[in-house]
Amino acid sequence: MLHGLKHLHNSGDVESTLNTLNVLDELLSAGTDRRIHYMISKGGSEALLTALVNNARTFSPNYNILLPLLHLLAKVGHRDRRIGMKAEEAGAVLVTLNLLKHNIRHARRVAACLWVIQVFSSSVSTANLIGENYGLDKKAKNDAHSNDLSFLSIFHCPFISLTEANVWSIVSKGYISGLLKLYEDWHSKDTHHVAIAIRHALLCCLHNATQTTAGRQALISQGGIQLLYQTTQTCLLSKSLECLVESTVQLMRKCLPKTPLPLTSDKSAYTFPLPGRPHAVPDSSVDNDAEEDEDNQEANSTDYDDDLETDLNKLCLRPDLDRPKELLQQYSRLCPELSHDFQTVLLTPSIHPSIHPSIFYPQTSLSPATSSSSSRGTPRRSQATEEGYHRTTIDRLLERHGACIPHHVPKLYRAAAAKTKSIPGFSILAFPDFWGHLPPPGHEPMAPRKPNTQRQKVFEDVQRFLNTDDIINLLVFDLENSSVQCRSDSLRFFSKFECGNLRKAIQVRRCEYDLILNADVNCSQHTQWFYFEVSNMVAGIPYRFNVINCEKSNSQFNYGMQPVLYSVREALDGRPRWVRTGTEICYYRNYFCPAQGRRKTTFYTLSFTITFKHNEDVCYLAYHYPYTYSALKAHLKVLQKSVDPAKVFFQQQILCGTLAGNSCPLVTITACPASKGWKDLHQLRNRPCIVLTSRVHPGESNASWVMKGTLEFLCSSDLVAQSLREAFVFKIIPMLNPDGVINGTNRCDVNSEDLNRQWCKPDPVLSPTIYHTKGFLYYLNSIGRTPLVFCDYHGHSRKKNVFLYGCSIKETLWQSGSAIDTVGLKEDPGYRTIPKTLDRIAPAFSFNSCNYLVEKSRSATARVVVWREMGVLRSYTMESTYNGCDQGIYKGLQIGTRELQEMGVKFCHSLLSVTKDTKLLYSRRLINHIDLDHNILDHKSHNCFEDDEPPCVEEIEYFTDFPTVKYTDLDSDVNSNMASPDEEEEINEGHSPAKCQQDCINDSIMKGNLFPPHIRQASIDGFSEKRNTCNGVSIANGQITS
Ligand SMILES: [Zn+2]
Repeated sequence: MLHGLKHLHNSGDVESTLNTLNVLDELLSAGTDRRIHYMISKGGSEALLTALVNNARTFSPNYNILLPLLHLLAKVGHRDRRIGMKAEEAGAVLVTLNLLKHNIRHARRVAACLWVIQVFSSSVSTANLIGENYGLDKKAKNDAHSNDLSFLSIFHCPFISLTEANVWSIVSKGYISGLLKLYEDWHSKDTHHVAIAIRHALLCCLHNATQTTAGRQALISQGGIQLLYQTTQTCLLSKSLECLVESTVQLMRKCLPKTPLPLTSDKSAYTFPLPGRPHAVPDSSVDNDAEEDEDNQEANSTDYDDDLETDLNKLCLRPDLDRPKELLQQYSRLCPELSHDFQTVLLTPSIHPSIHPSIFYPQTSLSPATSSSSSRGTPRRSQATEEGYHRTTIDRLLERHGACIPHHVPKLYRAAAAKTKSIPGFSILAFPDFWGHLPPPGHEPMAPRKPNTQRQKVFEDVQRFLNTDDIINLLVFDLENSSVQCRSDSLRFFSKFECGNLRKAIQVRRCEYDLILNADVNCSQHTQWFYFEVSNMVAGIPYRFNVINCEKSNSQFNYGMQPVLYSVREALDGRPRWVRTGTEICYYRNYFCPAQGRRKTTFYTLSFTITFKHNEDVCYLAYHYPYTYSALKAHLKVLQKSVDPAKVFFQQQILCGTLAGNSCPLVTITACPASKGWKDLHQLRNRPCIVLTSRVHPGESNASWVMKGTLEFLCSSDLVAQSLREAFVFKIIPMLNPDGVINGTNRCDVNSEDLNRQWCKPDPVLSPTIYHTKGFLYYLNSIGRTPLVFCDYHGHSRKKNVFLYGCSIKETLWQSGSAIDTVGLKEDPGYRTIPKTLDRIAPAFSFNSCNYLVEKSRSATARVVVWREMGVLRSYTMESTYNGCDQGIYKGLQIGTRELQEMGVKFCHSLLSVTKDTKLLYSRRLINHIDLDHNILDHKSHNCFEDDEPPCVEEIEYFTDFPTVKYTDLDSDVNSNMASPDEEEEINEGHSPAKCQQDCINDSIMKGNLFPPHIRQASIDGFSEKRNTCNGVSIANGQITS
């Protein structure tokens, strides 16, 4: 390929240039996008541009070369973010415009030129250049109010990315009202739907003209939304009008006026004073720039493979200790198994309160938010009487209805929660956490998505704007103001409990509520996680909920995932469980913006409908199965009691205190020595360490359920667990971010930092859990006990299945196309053993989703730092889906806590594959389902930047719809254009240029060649079909006559 590129630069020989182009095209068509990106990184775009300029500037350009060259450039340039700039530098923009002008009557050449121009205009300055040189003014001269066919000259609009300057000229010339009027005329006159293509083209023009605020405002002030809404309603029944409906829906979404969230501040309702800083840190994310059009920003994200670390020094060298060596000795206390004499049976956990003398737990009184549905609706009593009241009610209820849930003891939970310190001082327990959860029998399939779900939601959003009188707009819940009164017939909300997240609820219509989530503590972003209580419902009525300030650009909610619901009534009836629920689920970009600052931020709506089963039930809704800090504490206590201390060494210690004064537990699990003899003690003290951590990101509650599975398994009497305890010492930190979890944050700790980006140099005061985890790992290193395996459990919101990220120098260099010779590099392929094993034994696991690339952007994560600084070969991030699986026996099913816990068990099983201790394998029959194949290295790696989902059926983003063309669309168009022969014959010499253009366009209506790809198939088919059935109808001169 590189050879071919060099050749393109130099060659003057037609035949060999053609050959080179052919070879390149074949190479690129056969491979994945990766090949094209590789070619781009090697100067492919520049080579093609140079070739284009050289060939086009000759006296009589050879189109046998130019045409394939243009096609290839369209394909490659489409994936090159800097193509506009490169084209300008190479002088290719004007050359292509010239080619376009000279070939206006060659449909194929025009199409090829237009694609390339479209690709170039991805850059603002290039688009301006095109706008200047392609004479927008020429089009503006046409009187848009007339029904003369001349308006068709603006057909080019879809191809030219209209920048602010270009659009200004259009808006100021009254184009929008003209276009709207034209659209309305065509809509009312085209009763036989023979001119769908024209109607669609008008919408495309409107799309382009509304790329800026001025354009959108013009459309609104001209009554455009109303017009588009009404015309669309009459189009809904006809399938052939689908493309018009889709286009108008996108147009309306885009033009709805930006509405600030109804908040006085975007900052979290929870603030936490940080040590050394009297006031909460200013939120660095807030920018007070004047409003700018987000759509005019040039793409600033880095190129595809640019993020891969290719600096061999950074990949190989171990940096110096990040602290004085003397500080490591303090961690010796975290290896009690090394100093324990095993003469006496370990009965009580030795917690070291001296480590954190300032931990002080105030007497918080806690009582469940709900004991029974009847307790709701009354004003909350004073804490003392309420506690007394609930204690007895709850105890009675527990006696009568309490379920037997393994490893869950409600009273232990209550006791643990009493010690948990939260910023707002929670005094209420959420019922599900207290009462417990048993996974439902059977599996829960992913929810099928009904066609046009999003469209229907958008129509309702538009109606809010058109019929403001129908909107209730009543605040029914405010986290910061408990005196909010709601109507007797409205739902009631509550979220002031551990892990809770709901800031405001606003009743929009009788059965529809907008929900606003609370940003992470001390910060104004990262909203995604939610967990709240809802009550006062009427059974059988569908309620629509819209979470209107989600931040992620896509979500598994668009691919079959449902939120989870817990019903108190059901729990008391013996079904204490979170269930996947909700219909009409969709996730799409909305028209809200932050209340202040950050104008460029866009929000997404997660919308779902729930029909409650019982009247006046109390229910809880959450993003995913909640798992609180108090649950972990209670759970560890139960585990401690469950093991036989003569056999299992289980010790819970405090790694450190957190900023908010909670403790971060560290658990040691291993087998007690077989005897007190020297030999057995020696074996114990030489067992390799396995270090597991979890829940650094509070919104990833799935990680905690996987960890729960791991912990329970390692404490169990299962024979494999027994073998593992005999082979290894497990050091487990099950919750790296207790404060974040407790206060319902999604991503950060209370210092508003993502703790998994602090590993390079963690601050001992601001990120204590990371600082001490790293210190502990350094300590293990210093005493020659470097962990054999390190794994940090996470949740992944955009992919299905469970998978691992690891680290490999060779794969990273290989993937990045680095020039460094990897042949001489020695790398132990052992990092693949665990994922390979998991692929065989864990149903939810997908080897194909794993990768081992070291990215610069992840250089401060646990996985990369533990690999690089501690030299742990098997250092992983385990990502578990929130949704479900698309392979294996769970294909098509959503994941539940049972499957998550199973994953935690299977991860333990896979550890058998990394031990060389043959004694461990004495009971081979136990583990013969695990193929201990160490000989596995192939170069099949997957890119973690890719979303594993195909594009959503309905556009989540409204800006991506027009005029951007999807890769695949453009590719297939380019391919079909390449396949047909170039028509050399000129048509109708001697026309005026304008007439030529029209002819060309009229011609292309029949061929479908010149149409923007998104208009093409459906409408053209519809068009020609209708032509046959409606004899005598013509659209000459823009008028429909029959
Ligand atoms: Zn994470």
